[in-house]
Amino acid sequence: MNLGIVKSIGWKVGLAFILVTGTFAIAMSLYGLHVRQQMGSNYTSLVAVIVRSQTHAVMFRNALEDLRDSPRNPDVFSRLENLLWRIPQHIDGISFSLQTNQLSESDYHASLARLQDIRERLYEMRQQLDGIILGDSTEKFLRDGQVIENDLAQIYSAFEGMVHSEAAKQRIVMKRLGRTISVLAFMTLILIVGLLISLIRLKREHQKVKRLSQFDELTKLGNRRYLLSFAERFCKHSQRSGSPLGLILIDIDHFKYVNDTFGHPAGDQILQVLAGVLKDEARKIDVLARIGGEEFCILIPDTDIDGAMQLAERLRKKTSNLTQKQLGVDTSVTISLGVAIACKNEATFKYLYARADKALYQAKMHGRNRIEFG
Ligand code: GH3
Ligand code: MG
Ligand code: MG
Repeated sequence: MNLGIVKSIGWKVGLAFILVTGTFAIAMSLYGLHVRQQMGSNYTSLVAVIVRSQTHAVMFRNALEDLRDSPRNPDVFSRLENLLWRIPQHIDGISFSLQTNQLSESDYHASLARLQDIRERLYEMRQQLDGIILGDSTEKFLRDGQVIENDLAQIYSAFEGMVHSEAAKQRIVMKRLGRTISVLAFMTLILIVGLLISLIRLKREHQKVKRLSQFDELTKLGNRRYLLSFAERFCKHSQRSGSPLGLILIDIDHFKYVNDTFGHPAGDQILQVLAGVLKDEARKIDVLARIGGEEFCILIPDTDIDGAMQLAERLRKKTSNLTQKQLGVDTSVTISLGVAIACKNEATFKYLYARADKALYQAKMHGRNRIEFG
């Protein structure tokens, strides 16, 4: 797969991942908000207002009974005064709570109108009570009060039933919302895991492509592209610091003969053994590459002529001493090497390569299995 294509797919998958998770996060927050709103519906406070009103209605009934028993008791007068002032306030409270809740107005409209009517009648009763305190008969007051108390009890109990059934409906909605959120969260999780797996696979694919583009499958050494990626850095370092940079070119002698005589697989085996020799003899910092069929290159930073020549000699000697057993082929192998060193302004890959190539040519010309310095 092309490296550019992998990169662009990776970028698109990343963007899709962010978009999808972002959308899900927003959707889930909105759901959460909705659920909170449902939770926050003031049914609890509405029920509290109704219960408080019911208590005062009961207190009103008790006060009426007490008035019947003791028509001239100032304590009963003051309780009734207080209740006639409080009950209209409760009616206002209930009416406000009903309107601020999410109940359908048609459900409570008639009862609310009856409450408003009671409110008016209570106002009249306050005036009647003033008369009773001054000595009027309690008869009409008690009759009207009884009717009002009955009406209040009826209306409040109707409200209570309505609110309880609405609250039950809300609980069902909440349950469904909760389940929807769980399903959404599960789907998001699956999506995230799926995207993560795709990203990991894509990353592996990317690494594989990168490896293939920079490494030689047969010898596991770097290729020309790999070598060049280091060469630029090493050359800059040498130009700046003045420390010498060496390059060794290696070419197997009469390799065509080896291939022709022992076969291509035998030639491949020799290439692998030689790569092993290079790995054994070079330092960790040196960069090894197979740059052609049977041509290898070593970049050796911070190394002078002596160091480079010593390494080249070790390679030459070790290769020529490889036994047939080590090679896995009934033959011996020699290599020719071209060495070049540069520092400061001369330290460019082009310069080093040209010098080493020239030296390698000389080595071949002078009989092979030898090293020349260019
Ligand atoms: P010289 O000493 O002048 O270098 O002679 P040579 O035979 O090595 O030179 P030449 O460049 O003519 O031959 C190189 C041979 O390397 C030719 C080709 O068959 C062989 N070769 C190139 N790549 C591979 C490979 O991957 N595997 C094998 N087995 N042989 C390869
Ligand atoms: Mg060659
Ligand atoms: Mg050769």
